[in-house]
Amino acid sequence: MGAKTLQIDLKEIAYFHRVSDISIDFLKEEGIDGLVVDVDNTIMPYDVDAVPDDIASWLNTAKCILPIVIISNTKPYRAKIIRESLGIPAYGMCLKPVPFSLYVLRNHLKNAKNVAMVGDQLFTDGLYAKWNHLKFIRVEPLSPKDAPHTKFTRWLEKIIFSGAEPLDK
Ligand SMILES: [Mg+2]
Repeated sequence: MGAKTLQIDLKEIAYFHRVSDISIDFLKEEGIDGLVVDVDNTIMPYDVDAVPDDIASWLNTAKCILPIVIISNTKPYRAKIIRESLGIPAYGMCLKPVPFSLYVLRNHLKNAKNVAMVGDQLFTDGLYAKWNHLKFIRVEPLSPKDAPHTKFTRWLEKIIFSGAEPLDK
């Protein structure tokens, strides 16, 4: 893997506190016509099996405006909770950033030409976005609790994004 495939233009990353802070106007202004959304710490806290009300409400509004698919490394039962509670296609164990789920993505977002990935991790969601030619919208993790293997990448993210101001501020 060459160094270029790991390079991400940080200026290109939109940053919001929470998914529910992403304004629909922002998506329209950016010409975004499809969304891929992460689960763990993006729309569900890592240690809670439910979508917070504000984020559920945002997803219910957004799914009427543009197609959404949930592509996540989460456990399958958590993806199922989202499918059943929000009626949005949701897949777990997708092994992001490896683009195994590209077929699923293209199948659900057939007509979308300008897709954005919404997620909380640069080294899974951000790289997945880059390798699949998607925009990346970064959000703050919902919970300080996270998978043990993310300790190092979280530390790197803190350095990389120090001083970043969210667009909803
Ligand atoms: Mg996540």
